[in-house]
Amino acid sequence: MRHYTALALTSLLLAACGQAPSSEPELRWLKGNTHTHTLWSDGDAAPEQVAAWYAENGYQFLVLSDHNIYQDHERWFPVAEDGVGRLKPSEVDLLITRFGADKVELRGEAGGREMRLRTLTELKAEVERAPEGGAGGFLLLPGEEVTSSFEGRPVHINAVNIDGVLPALQRASIVELMSDTLRSIEEAGAASGRPVFGHLNHPNFGWGVTWEEVAAVKEERFFEVYNGHRSTRNHGDSEHPSTEEIWDRALSRRLSGPDGASLLYGVATDDAHHYHGNLTSPTGRGWVMVRAGSLDRDAVTDAMNRGDFYASSGVVLEELEVTGDRYRLRVKADGDASFRIRFIGTRQLDGVTGPVGEELMAFSGNEAEYRFSGDELYVRAQITSTRLHPRPYLEGDHEMAWTQPARPSLR
Ligand SMILES: [Zn+2]
Ligand SMILES: [Zn+2]
Repeated sequence: MRHYTALALTSLLLAACGQAPSSEPELRWLKGNTHTHTLWSDGDAAPEQVAAWYAENGYQFLVLSDHNIYQDHERWFPVAEDGVGRLKPSEVDLLITRFGADKVELRGEAGGREMRLRTLTELKAEVERAPEGGAGGFLLLPGEEVTSSFEGRPVHINAVNIDGVLPALQRASIVELMSDTLRSIEEAGAASGRPVFGHLNHPNFGWGVTWEEVAAVKEERFFEVYNGHRSTRNHGDSEHPSTEEIWDRALSRRLSGPDGASLLYGVATDDAHHYHGNLTSPTGRGWVMVRAGSLDRDAVTDAMNRGDFYASSGVVLEELEVTGDRYRLRVKADGDASFRIRFIGTRQLDGVTGPVGEELMAFSGNEAEYRFSGDELYVRAQITSTRLHPRPYLEGDHEMAWTQPARPSLR
């Protein structure tokens, strides 16, 4: 597994220097959300409305990850003429005003109308735009929230950059279910010839997945350290670890094992369902910043697979450089906000693992550097702004960012 780590670090170093092999385009940061719902499953807005929100609010890519569905077929959604369903007549009128009558297909008589949901192909044609002068642009990445459970415990895994629906599986344990679902995503990628990835969603939702299970599934390479839906228990409780604690515990167990194991990357997402003022899971709470050479589905997916991204609920980085011997970052200034930068990791000396997820170093200010001593199993950074999140997951949450764990080259 040393090999894997070296590769990841090399690519991060290349990326950090803003250089790439001469045939490659220059790398830039792309803002994206990989977890969103629409009327295709349990979201409360039409897919074109959801995509338009992200396209108009500074994002460069979006995954419409509806539950166990791929938006590729004919689907008619009932209009709630009595005003109590998810597609109200007033919403239909707004869609017509905004997107044009020719884009809103209705059938049926007054009192029993249905609206056809736009397919991914139609949406891509309508909302995607190329970057101008190397900036901006908007892209829809195909995806699905593969939604299953074991003995009432939810296991939700987002499959990204797939070309068709993947079935929800049933297995005899959480570990088997996660492992086989993630394998099915990899197999879909092998079949299509495209890079893909799966991320485990909200492990604490319904106390679905424990940190031991996250640690045990070697195919599990991405998980949601932050999910904007208020049912997902990011902070854990007195009996359950927070998502950050799950991250540290799982990394420490994996990386201290005799066979080594892959790193675990953290993503932040909206898991948006609500687009009309309900604050349970609105847009704009959490996202990823991905460093890629082009705004292209495979390039974005490749960058995620390299670990060249960070998770954010508001904090933006200007610089992020991770090499085999140091971890350096600079936070983008944000008015009068100040920042606490903490390097977190677990050390191992003479085969003995130290405290899990300890604070190795902390700085107040806009930039920080951590030099590896060589005894770290991994190091990651957590940045907290003094600015309160404007539409928080939990009242009192501050804007934050989480960068990916890295291993020292000396190990
Ligand atoms: Zn879910
Ligand atoms: Zn979801």
